[in-house]
Amino acid sequence: MHPLQCVLQAQRWGPLASVSWLLFRTCRAQSSVHGTTCPGPGRQQENGVQKDFSSRLAAGPTFQHFLRSALDPQEKPDVEDPPPYLTVDELSGRQRKVYLETYGCQMNVNDTEIAWSVLQKSGYLRTRNLQEADVILLVTCSIREKAEQTIWNRLHQLKALKTKRLRSRVPLRIGILGCMAERLKEEILNREKMVDILAGPDAYRDLPRLLAVAESGQQAANVLLSLDETYADVMPVQTSPSATSAFVSIMRGCDNMCSYCIVPFTRGRERSRPVASILEEVRKLSEQGLKEVTLLGQNVNSFRDSSEVQFNNAVSANLSRGFSTNYKPKQGGLRFAHLLDHVSRVDPEMRIRFTSPHPKDFPDEVLQLIHERDNICKQIHLPAQSGSSRVLEAMRRGYSREAYVELVHHIRESIPGVSLSSDFIAGFCGETEEDHLQTVSLLREVQYNMGFLFAYSMRQKTRAYHRLKDDVPEEVKLRRLEELITVFREEATKANMASVGCTQLVLVEGHSKRSATDLCGRNDGNLKVIFPNVEMEDVSNSGVRVRAQPGDYVLVKITSTSSQTLKGHVLCRTTLKDSSAYC
Ligand code: SF4
Repeated sequence: MHPLQCVLQAQRWGPLASVSWLLFRTCRAQSSVHGTTCPGPGRQQENGVQKDFSSRLAAGPTFQHFLRSALDPQEKPDVEDPPPYLTVDELSGRQRKVYLETYGCQMNVNDTEIAWSVLQKSGYLRTRNLQEADVILLVTCSIREKAEQTIWNRLHQLKALKTKRLRSRVPLRIGILGCMAERLKEEILNREKMVDILAGPDAYRDLPRLLAVAESGQQAANVLLSLDETYADVMPVQTSPSATSAFVSIMRGCDNMCSYCIVPFTRGRERSRPVASILEEVRKLSEQGLKEVTLLGQNVNSFRDSSEVQFNNAVSANLSRGFSTNYKPKQGGLRFAHLLDHVSRVDPEMRIRFTSPHPKDFPDEVLQLIHERDNICKQIHLPAQSGSSRVLEAMRRGYSREAYVELVHHIRESIPGVSLSSDFIAGFCGETEEDHLQTVSLLREVQYNMGFLFAYSMRQKTRAYHRLKDDVPEEVKLRRLEELITVFREEATKANMASVGCTQLVLVEGHSKRSATDLCGRNDGNLKVIFPNVEMEDVSNSGVRVRAQPGDYVLVKITSTSSQTLKGHVLCRTTLKDSSAYC
């Protein structure tokens, strides 16, 4: 069976499948579900615990346990009863120290906070010191070959640490979380015997149980994808108390199936978090004094909360003009404009951003809202991927170059001064020199402020892997990528030059990394702004001179720019509401 079919099968069975999907590997071949031996170093010392565990495991879960597993994730009690093969004590963290390492996108940063929230509740402590960790968890990314190679390399480094630890004190446990766990599943356990647990992106609630199983010398995995898991009730822990901004996950998964992309296979189907739980989290962040929230999702503007019956059940998809979907149009639910409207009303002093959107989901009401609300940043990420309609079709993006360019013009008319960013892939299957030049010309035509450009990396399981040929030689991909980066930088420098002489509102983040006498922050378009750390007037307290602190809004007059950074001098401390001084 194709692995995706496996996963979809499990999804159709619903939560009851979660127990049957669990994978245990014991060191004793006879008792292993998969019958694989894994004589890991030092495992012998755990034989006593393991024997006891195995006999309890043999008793199996009860019917009540299956019923409890079938509960909706949101309805499950905070502290779950342990499964029959574990005691309450074994399930708890017992103050063991967890070291979390995050790779990849902002979704992974947010997932790390969710995973930590689950473990903290279970009695684990967090450490930033690798040497004192009892558990090391890597939150991984699979988007490109290189991202996975980084994790394999990291595992080799951790191997030495684990071997050393086995000789001294309690064994170190190592876990792979997120997309790579989902994509490779058992391959990781087979290749790296030192990995104790695997948890896919929808299995973080199961971490305490997986770690408890690992304590008895077993390898354990839960890579079940869910149709409804949004972690709506798990309040992520803000890892940096001095942080000015936070990510709020509003939806997970993707239904688009772009032909090059592994995400639908590692993150599963699209599902949105209920509006009420998002607003509650944003309110809490506002009370904590945070000044910026970024709404997160694989297709953030495809948000559709269908958790309750709504009056607008018959409202159709409402796509951007000239755009189509790879799936049957969906009906009803509370859409992104509704959410954005409510989130932006929580705290007028809190900036709202969102990422990563799909260009197909920018109806006029979203654009109008961004234009009207002072605290919704005038910054839109509009992933193009290619400037060639032929390549876009092969990528199954659901739009042509012409439709994309028309959308860019419409956005610029609707939101004057908007800052645009994009993603591009160089050297996709079948991309000719002419296709590449069309991407170059799109970069020139749109003149993005920010860009994320990569050489194509074919991923197994994707449609491109099965149906297309990765026929652009590596050196050609790299040469084209270099050309795109050069053109992007030239155009971004020109676009940013337009800011020179303007006064911009900047949210202060802290000291500049390059100079102790400078501060740095972000403007509305999310570009970094550097300015000297000097005393300034505070417009809310006339006559009072202050120095800016992280979380303050200041007005900065821009004096110079590059493709990535702006520099200027600070005028005053202000508030978001009072700041109307722009170009
Ligand atoms: S929209 Fe396309 S590129 Fe983005 S996550 Fe979904 S499949 Fe991947």
